[in-house]
Parts: sequence; C-alpha cells; structure tokens
Amino acid sequence: MGLKVAPRRNVLSAINNGGAEAAPVVEFSGREDVERLLAEKMKGKSKNDFKGRVEQMSDYIKKLRACIRWYMELEDGYLAEQEKLRGTLDAENSRHTQLEAQLSNAIEELKAANLDLTRRCENLEETLSREKSEKLIAAESYEKEMQERELAESSRDLLTVDLERVTHDAKRFSEQLKMVQDTNKRLQEYNTSLQQYNSNLQADASKSGETISKLQKEKSAMMETMAALRECNNSMSSQLESSRASQQEAIRVKEELRKEVECFRAELKQARDDRDHSVAQLNNLNIELANCKEQIGRSSKECESMSTKVSALEETCNTQQDQIQTLQKQLAVATEKLKLADVTAIEAMTGYEEQKEKIKYLEERLAHAESQIVEGDELRKKLHNTILELKGNIRVFCRVRPLLRFHGDSNGLEGASISFPTSVESAGRAIDLMNQGQKLSFSYDKVFDHNASQEDVFVEISQLVQSALDGYKVCIFAYGQTGSGKTYTMMGRPGNDQKGMIPRSLEQIFKTSQSLESQGWEYFMQASMLEIYNESIRDLLAPGRPNSFDMSASKQYTIKHDPHGNTTVSDLTIIDVFSIADVTNLLEKASHSRSVGKTQMNEQSSRSHFVFTLKISGSNKNTGQHVEGILNLIDLAGSERLAKSSSTGDRLKETQSINKSLSALSDVIFAIAKGDDHVPFRNSKLTYLLQPCLGGDSKALMFVNISPEASSVGETICSLRFASRVNACEIGIPRRRTSTSI
Ligand code: ADP
Ligand code: ADP
Ligand code: MG
Repeated sequence: MGLKVAPRRNVLSAINNGGAEAAPVVEFSGREDVERLLAEKMKGKSKNDFKGRVEQMSDYIKKLRACIRWYMELEDGYLAEQEKLRGTLDAENSRHTQLEAQLSNAIEELKAANLDLTRRCENLEETLSREKSEKLIAAESYEKEMQERELAESSRDLLTVDLERVTHDAKRFSEQLKMVQDTNKRLQEYNTSLQQYNSNLQADASKSGETISKLQKEKSAMMETMAALRECNNSMSSQLESSRASQQEAIRVKEELRKEVECFRAELKQARDDRDHSVAQLNNLNIELANCKEQIGRSSKECESMSTKVSALEETCNTQQDQIQTLQKQLAVATEKLKLADVTAIEAMTGYEEQKEKIKYLEERLAHAESQIVEGDELRKKLHNTILELKGNIRVFCRVRPLLRFHGDSNGLEGASISFPTSVESAGRAIDLMNQGQKLSFSYDKVFDHNASQEDVFVEISQLVQSALDGYKVCIFAYGQTGSGKTYTMMGRPGNDQKGMIPRSLEQIFKTSQSLESQGWEYFMQASMLEIYNESIRDLLAPGRPNSFDMSASKQYTIKHDPHGNTTVSDLTIIDVFSIADVTNLLEKASHSRSVGKTQMNEQSSRSHFVFTLKISGSNKNTGQHVEGILNLIDLAGSERLAKSSSTGDRLKETQSINKSLSALSDVIFAIAKGDDHVPFRNSKLTYLLQPCLGGDSKALMFVNISPEASSVGETICSLRFASRVNACEIGIPRRRTSTSI
C-alpha cells in the first residue's frame, strides 16, 4: 500500500481568515513549493527600510507557518498510516505464532504416526516372509501330491490297458471254443457217416457170402451132372460092347460119342475153369472181406482216435474254460485293482484336502503362537512385577504429559529438552533431561512419554489393582507440581479414551469379581472419598455436600486404627457399591464437588490431597476362604513449594508449615526405608490415615507427573530427584490379609 500525499490545500487562505489584510495566496502542493519558499529572498528594500522589511518578514513568517502546518498535517497522515500498519503487523505476528504451534504439533503427530507405521510395516514384512516360506513348503508338498497322483493315474491307465487286453483274450478264447465245438460237431457227423459206411460194407460182405453158397450149390449140381454123365458113358460102353456088331456104326457112333466126350470134356474143363474162377472169385471175395474187415477195424480205430481226439478236444475245451475262468478271475482282480487305483486317486485327493487343512491348521497355530508370544510378554511383565514385589520397593512410574496447545502462558510453551533413551536395557524405563548444558539421567520402574495413552498406563498397573481382590492393601499416589497431570492421570476426562486410573481400576475390579463368581467367590465393596486440606478432612460424599470446609463441631472426622489393621474415619460417608454404575455416579458426584472447590477455592484445591478408598471383602463359599483388600487411589497436592524449599534447603520449616502433609509423607517413606524405630505417621492426617497401608503391608505405587515446559524444568528436576529417592526405598514385603473359616 502506497503512501498517500496529503490533499493540496490553500494554507494561507485559511490563515488569512482571521486577518483583514490581503496577503499573497501560497499553495503547497509538494516539496518544490517548500523549496521555492525557502529560496525566496528579500526584495529591493534598502537596509534602513525596516518597516518594509518587517512587513516582508511577517509575510514570510506567515508563509512559513502555513508550510509548517502543511507538514504537520502530512505527518498526521503518516502517523495514522503507521498505526494501521503496526496493527496489521501485530495480527500477522500472532497468526504466525499460532500457525507455528499448530505446525509443530502436526509434525510431532506425523512423526509418531510415521514411527508407528514403520514399526507396523516391519512387523508385517516379518509375517509376510514367514508366510512366504510356509507357502513354499505347502507348494512343495502339493507338488509331491500331484506327482503321486500322476503315478496313480498312470498305473490306472496301465491297468485299463491290461483289462482291455484281457477282455480281448477272453473274446478270442470264447471264439476258439466255438470253433472247437464246431469241429467237434463235424467230427461226430463224420463218425456217423463212417458207421453207415461200415454197415454198408457188412451188407456187401453178407451178399458175397450168399453168391459163394450159390456157386457151391451149382458146383454140387455140376458134380451130380458129371456123375450122371459117367453113368451114361458106362451105359454107352456097354452098348458098344453089345452092339459090336454094328461096329462101323458103332465106331462112328463111337467117334461121335468121342466127339461128344470131347465136347463134354471141354464143357467139364470149362466147368472146372468156372469152378476155379469161382474159387478164385471166392478167394478174392474172402480177401475183399478181410480187407473190408480190416477197413472196418481201421475205421473203428479211426473212430476211436477220433473219440480220443474229441475227448482231448473236450479236455482242451475244459482247460480253456478253466483258463477263461482264471482270466475272468484276473479280470475281476484287475477291476478290483482299478477300483483300488480309483480309491487311491480319491485318497490322493483327500490327502491333498488334508494337506490344505493342515496348512490352514498351521496358519491357525501360527496365529496362536503369535498370541502366545504376546501372552509370554505379558507373563514376563508379571514376573518382573513379582521380582519387584520380592524386592519390596515402592514402585515408581514417571509420566510426562504432552505440551498443552493453548496454554495461557505462551512463554513456557517451548518444551524442555526431555529425551527417552531407547537402548534395550533402559527403553521405557529411563528419562534424560538437559539442564544448562548438563545431562541428568533418571530411571524408574516405568517411564511413560507424552504419547502414552491412559490405556497404556493402566495396562501397567492393572495387575497391582487386581491384587486388591486377592486381599492386598494397594496404594497408588500421584505426585507432581500443579498442572503436571496428576488429576488427569487419576481421574482423567469423561469419555472412554481419556478415563483415568480410578474409573479403569474400578471397572476392572467389578469385571474380575463377576468372573470369579463362578469359582464361588462373593465380594462386598464399600467406597469412600475424602479430601485433606490444611490438616482437615472433607467428606466428598457427604449428603448435602458442603462447598467449604465445615469446621463445625458436629463432624469430627477422627481417624482410628483397630488391632486388626482396620481403619475407620468417624462421620465419614461410606457407600456400598454393587456395580460400575454405582461407582461412576459417586465419581461424578465427587469430581463435581471437587471442581466446585476448584473454582471457589483454587488455592485449597491445589493444596489438598484427594483420597479414594475402596474396601473389598470377599468370601468363597466353596473353600471357606475370606480375603480383605483395600484399594487407595490418591491425587496428592501440588508439590512445587516443597520442591523449591528442598532445593534451597534452609527454609524447610516454613515449607513444612505450608505443605506439611506432603513432606510428612516423604519423611514416613524414608523412615520406613531406613528402618527407623520411630516412623512419624502421626505428623500428618494423610500419613496417619494411610498408616496400615504404608507400614510395609501394602503394595505401593507412585506416579511422578512431569510438565514438559521449559519454564517448569526446575520443578521437574526436583520431582525426578524425589522420585529416585523413593524408588530406592524398601518398605517391606506386602502381605495378604486372608483367613480360612474351616
Ligand atoms: P494437576 O492435577 O497435576 O494439576 P492436571 O491433571 O489438571 O494437572 O493437568 C493439567 C492440564 O493438562 C489439564 O488440562 C489436563 O487435561 C492436561 N493433561 C495432563 N496430562 C495430560 C495428558 N497425558 N494428555 C493430555 N492432556 C493432559
Ligand atoms: P492440583 O491437582 O495440582 O492440586 P488442580 O487439580 O486443582 O491442582 O488443578 C488442575 C488444573 O486446573 C491446573 O492446570 C490448574 O491450573 C487448573 N486450575 C486450577 N484451578 C483453576 C481455576 N480456578 N480456574 C481454571 N483453572 C484452574
Ligand atoms: Mg489436579
């Protein structure tokens, strides 16, 4: 934005408004006009013309005045402009600081998120590599399975080929059988035809026999004719003899007769030839008969051989049938084998399924193993706790709260140089502080940095809270300067994430007591809440809740201890609680009555101790056991004045009067630790009230709350030193308070 030139103005005319005389009008429009005025010279007046000179001078003076006025106005304009610019500059500056604060917060958050992500990424990579290797193994086993399956399939193929061959063979054999049966039939037919031929031959033979007998009859007839002829010859010769007379005739007759005889002889010869021929024929026929007989024998032999052949064939047929049967058996076996192969294939499939399931099972086991690791870690923590318990120390936890964003005091906003060593042996257990170039290291049972959530903190004390149910006396203190996060740690803010240790402890106690019901445990619980300010007790649960400390004589609030270690405060309201809802109501009521105190009596509130007490009595109807535990949760008064005094040392008396009870608490702790005969419990109401819990019977834990602002570094060092001294104290071994009625 440019600087605006003041508007041109008739200065002298404004001046001359008051005067009567006319004067030259002078206008100032810029630097040149002024320079011109300054360069103006006295005009031709003699040295002695004083009047003229005076006039001239006064004129000049008037002009100068107008000039000065013009300058003043110009300056006014400039001043206004400057004012405006300064305003914008301031606004810009404040915006800038705000932005810076937001930016640093955002950077911190991003860093934390980045860290968390890298951690998670590493975890994921690890699991990934593990899973990869497992997957590889699984793939290998799967490949093996596949190979086996292939083998089974190939054997099955072979078997099917065998089966095919065998069925083919069976077919061939049945064909052969058919053929053999055919031949058999044909042979039988041949046999019958041979038998027919045989019978024909026998018929022929009988016919030949008949011819032979006919021929023999003819022969005998011939012999008879021959005999008749001989008789005739004889009669002829006698006739010859008788008729010698007629010899001529007779010779002729004789001649004739001779011829006749010759003829007869030829006939005889022929007959003889015939007979010979017949005999030869007979012989022939005989031979033929023999032949026939032979043939018959041969054919019967053939028949026999045929029948033997048939029987042999029948035998082969039988053997083949046997073979067929064996082949059928083999076939059955082969089918069986095939079935088996199928079964093995199915088995391979089921094996594969099984492998898959195995992989699944292994994955499940992996998850289980991981959870076991987590459990193991928890167990380690538990064992660590046990070790501490055995040492008998007061446990000390340090908690650093985050920088608060819109704190009224912006000077203390930059953080003190607090760091948390990350080496293995001190991670989560140590804190380093830089003060004037000097590094101070402290270590405690546990250190929570500004990132620790209420849940993170509670996880560490939950076991301790648990032991109240087992019959221990448990005391948890919060120590630290005002504004360091004591109330935040103990009570927290409403809402699930921000709940403090008191509501979380109570929730856990109710949850656990309910789960123990199944084992026969029955618990009865009573709660009370009080505030100690200036050595006077205020009942936070009193009906009609007083807004100020009621010093009237009606309420005495005297503390008494009975020989059994029970503590009572007279007139104190004690309320039976049966559920989380009951306790939540009480806490709301108490925080309200305390917050009223905060607004009306700020000084008292930050100088007062808040004590929440839960008495737990449990009995087991199954075992007859009885336990009595006490849980004390204490939000101590701000420690800053005590810390300051102990740093200077010589003003201890004053401090004790201002903050007696807090120093009394440390006196008691150190006296117990030193093993002094006299422990000054009675020096303050707080220590007297907590006497049974501090006498070494209880499990005690102290939270040391730290503000991170650089402006608090002095208080912070004092708190850390005090905490270190407390951490080194042994106050004895905690005892359970139990009894058995049986
Ligand atoms: P004390 O009780 O020690 O005086 P407070 O518990 O009241 O301190 O804490 C002071 C402020 O800081 C409160 O506004 C509180 O909410 C805030 N505060 C303390 N601790 C934390 C924390 N861990 N995270 C966030 N805010 C916190
Ligand atoms: P302490 O727990 O240390 O005794 P308080 O719990 O009373 O102190 O204070 C806790 C927080 O509340 C501190 O940050 C403190 O500055 C703030 N605080 C205390 N009194 C008031 C008040 N009257 N108005 C506003 N804030 C307050
Ligand atoms: Mg507080």
